[in-house]
Amino acid sequence: MTEPLLTVDGLGAWYGESHILHGMDFTVGKGEIVTLLGRNGAGKTTTMRSIMGLVKKRNGSVRFGSIETIGLSANQIARAGIAFCPEERGIFSSLTVKENLLLPPIVAEGGMSVERVYELFPILQTRGASQGTKLSGGEQQMLAIARILRTGARLLLLDEPTEGLAPVIVEQIGQIIAKLREEGFTILLVEQNFRFAEAVGDRHYVVEHGRVIDSFERDEVEANRETITGYLGI
Ligand code: ATP
Repeated sequence: MTEPLLTVDGLGAWYGESHILHGMDFTVGKGEIVTLLGRNGAGKTTTMRSIMGLVKKRNGSVRFGSIETIGLSANQIARAGIAFCPEERGIFSSLTVKENLLLPPIVAEGGMSVERVYELFPILQTRGASQGTKLSGGEQQMLAIARILRTGARLLLLDEPTEGLAPVIVEQIGQIIAKLREEGFTILLVEQNFRFAEAVGDRHYVVEHGRVIDSFERDEVEANRETITGYLGI
């Protein structure tokens, strides 16, 4: 692993009285693509929302570089350079593609220009004047990723970016993620689609009942395929 950019240590989280995360431990190195795998309800989304400061009651430690973020607000965490692309994508359907791209504030230095976004996602330029509602699922997902690139964040939390998309679009999302890695972004990815996860991920953590129960490097996946598919129930 490269130098750690994100270090999650004993992260606990609660929704009201429900204790959801029971001490999550994992790290994401600078420039890596790391996945969180696990069955529905394992706590993957809650982990991302906790890192982003969107879950009120949490404890443990989440360090971003040298910054301890556990006491910070979601706004402060975003300003530090972490961005979250939720499963539901958060596109403003009444706005056009371009308006959606112009919306997010640039929170850190180095936010991507709209021109650069169009180079990475030519389809968004073609569809620039279309309303959010008129986009296909794949176009919406690209717009959702493009929007977080505009913020200048260096750590991207992507929650199930391939959900509900046709295989050819899933492949395009994979190519975009690979390009983002080449540009030096660090990505934490939650995925149900294990084929996709193994194609793009450098390392994988398996989450069960709010804990990391196992982990695999890219080159360990093949030899452990049965164990992993067993964990995921596939
Ligand atoms: P999925 O792929 O289904 O989203 P996940 O691994 O991301 O699975 P989470 O969404 O983190 O799982 O959910 C973990 C647990 O927390 C589940 O038992 C879920 O029911 C519960 N949970 C999620 N959101 C809330 C909420 N807002 N209030 C109460 N409980 C919640």
